Amino acid sequence: MGSEAAGAGSDRFSRKLPRERFGPNWPSANPQVPLVGGPSVKGGPSALHLLPMASSYRGTLSPACTQCAEGKKMVLFVSGLCRFRCFYCPVSERRNQKDDTYANERRVTRDQDVLDEARAIGATGTGITGGDPLGVFDRTLHYVTLLKREFGPSHHIHLYTHEPNPEKLRQLAEAGLDEFRLHIPHYLWGPLATGGDAYRSVLEAAPEWGIRRGVEIPVLPEKERELRRLLRALDRIGVDFVNLNELEFSETNEGKMRGRGYALDRRGGWGVDGSRSVAERVVRDLRLTMPVHYCSSRFKDGVQLKHRLLRRIERSSPSFAESTGEGTIVFGVVEGPAGTDLGRLGRRLARLARVRQGEYRVDAVRGRIELGVRPLRRIARGLDWPAFEVEEYPTADALEVERTPLNRAAFPGPPGGGT
Ligand code: SF4
Repeated sequence: MGSEAAGAGSDRFSRKLPRERFGPNWPSANPQVPLVGGPSVKGGPSALHLLPMASSYRGTLSPACTQCAEGKKMVLFVSGLCRFRCFYCPVSERRNQKDDTYANERRVTRDQDVLDEARAIGATGTGITGGDPLGVFDRTLHYVTLLKREFGPSHHIHLYTHEPNPEKLRQLAEAGLDEFRLHIPHYLWGPLATGGDAYRSVLEAAPEWGIRRGVEIPVLPEKERELRRLLRALDRIGVDFVNLNELEFSETNEGKMRGRGYALDRRGGWGVDGSRSVAERVVRDLRLTMPVHYCSSRFKDGVQLKHRLLRRIERSSPSFAESTGEGTIVFGVVEGPAGTDLGRLGRRLARLARVRQGEYRVDAVRGRIELGVRPLRRIARGLDWPAFEVEEYPTADALEVERTPLNRAAFPGPPGGGT
């Protein structure tokens, strides 16, 4: 399936995100480089636009891509189930073939989880991914209906699918789906003749349903010829856009990818050597009527994901947490021994650190008190409880990136008591 920030059914946190991805040298951090509508190499309606992180496009970007680049799209991973077994599938071990739903990183057990997560990032749209969303059609239909009912018709919803099923897509369009992106298997690339009939028919029928129709595929470097023929065929059909994704390594596909002779692109990121060059050539050379967009692996982490994290920090992080500007937050943590009355411990620490109510909080699940790192640093050495400076993602699963001990009690050793 195609991919977007934390999408493609992939779980971009499942692999280590190198720190340099959030470093200040990214073009995205440079205000001179706009996110979309970036520098145009040549004028005209199908001008070539350059985006940060080596991404580019010709024509007009899909509204879904614009929202995604700005971090305003929620990724609704509707189920890990998929009957297709693409060798390059990036879905993480934790989600692959598991019938679980996630809204961004939040595990969904009820509709309210989806709505809460959308509000936490101020989502203006949702990208439905998986697995294959059409494989759990009733659930997908339910979420499209729910999101449109809750956030109104302007909440833009798109989905990825590998299944060329006109009846399901027609019903989803009726429920409010704005756009679908068909993932055409690589062995059918070419003129979409006999083998690709089902895909061609869906794309030809879609305008009757009042829905935008696109194609999203990863760029396999050895398939440049077939890709060019496919793009010409899609242009003749008149699809609304094509998205080309850089083929990328993930923790789950690495073995199969290396087995096929793929290597890592040495220019950085997780892209497969050759994928970017082919995509850039195709976007640069082919003169087509339909818009074509190349989305690099680094763009997904460095721009899409980063912006979504920053939006979440702005809207949902506690006031005492400091943003690193890199999509993570830093704060202080004091861990209470098992059985501690955390409410009491919190009040005591607040008095010592001179912080008011609302400037600290009790995390009963993790058995700890959280507060600003500066006030904690002032008192940490005098505490008998382990105190740390913690860096976390601002996500629902609060993935920890790093922790620094602030006192002796924070170092492993014989258990110490509290005071
Ligand atoms: S279609 Fe299925 S197997 Fe292929 S990449 Fe998407 S989720 Fe993975």
